[in-house]
Amino acid sequence: MKITKIEPMFIAIPFEHGAPKPMLGTGSTRGTMDSVYVRVETDQGLVGWGESFGFACCPVTHYIIEKLVAPMAVGRDCDDIGALMFDLHKRLQNMGRNSPVIFALSGLDIALWDIAGKAKGLPVHTLLGSTGKKKTIEAYASLLRLETAEHVHNVCETVLKRGYKHVKLHERAVETTAAARKTLGEKYPLMLDTNCTWTPAQALEMAKKLEPYDLTWLEEPLFPPDDYAALAALRAATSIPIAAGENLGNILDVRRIVEAGAVDIVQPDPIKMGGVTECWKALEYARKKGVQAEPHTPWYGPGLAAGLHLIGAMPGECLVEYYFADLAASPLGEMAIPKNGRLQVPDGPGLGISVDEKIVAKYRVA
Ligand SMILES: [Mg+2]
Repeated sequence: MKITKIEPMFIAIPFEHGAPKPMLGTGSTRGTMDSVYVRVETDQGLVGWGESFGFACCPVTHYIIEKLVAPMAVGRDCDDIGALMFDLHKRLQNMGRNSPVIFALSGLDIALWDIAGKAKGLPVHTLLGSTGKKKTIEAYASLLRLETAEHVHNVCETVLKRGYKHVKLHERAVETTAAARKTLGEKYPLMLDTNCTWTPAQALEMAKKLEPYDLTWLEEPLFPPDDYAALAALRAATSIPIAAGENLGNILDVRRIVEAGAVDIVQPDPIKMGGVTECWKALEYARKKGVQAEPHTPWYGPGLAAGLHLIGAMPGECLVEYYFADLAASPLGEMAIPKNGRLQVPDGPGLGISVDEKIVAKYRVA
């Protein structure tokens, strides 16, 4: 089977999350959930969908798919996804091994797994060797940054009403973390993600102040995120488990962060580190090393579906990350919206999703 067309689509969908919109690192307000969908056609009439990481501040992902990846991949045989992707990674290696080029390849890889499953009439999780026992997966409500104790309290109350049993904050202060713990009580697991914000000294000081709040993990406390030695030193100095990995670009990065002793929980992302192919290698590596893995999946499209298949195929228990926000429209329909805090593992052929192309067209940005 040959690839005949690869089309990137930049999507920006408005959302509400029960509080003021958070600020982006660029200084502007985040008003939409953005991503790059990748639609792939083959000469056998099969269509596959993938997703590549690409915020509005990162239009370069779309450009790379259109100008670099598509010209290289259209016309190529896609029956052996591993061989094709290896060749593309090799040809593009001088553009960066952890970069928008890898985001672009991730979307193509996910679409090819969707096509492979459709060709065989099997879900991706079965292609990965799943026993099919996991029908649904517990989602954790990953809250956007809320900034004040009042907003944290209000959103946590809504989260509990919707049936979630695990909550992650994107805060950077003790007061807002304390507010979440107070609202949730002792019973509900609470995680804190700072998105790479502190120096090692600041992180140690903050970790000590955060220890009383019984955090399940502290995620990406340090900038730069690839200072694995500093992260390992922090991990040794605090009782809070350390999580990181969404900014890893490839399987060798995953090995480096684990071998450095930097993480208790590793978080590879299928739309950032090479799609289903590379993310599955990372999950298998973590399993063999006895390191807990929690794939990074706060997406609403094919990237979320890829995450559900990967987690569905993992032998151990694992949560799925879900950004706690209500989109103006869901491109995957109801399957991408947790029910009572759980998401279904799709069981149709390929990714088992139906992409609503009318919604995609409505929210597509030129
Ligand atoms: Mg994170």
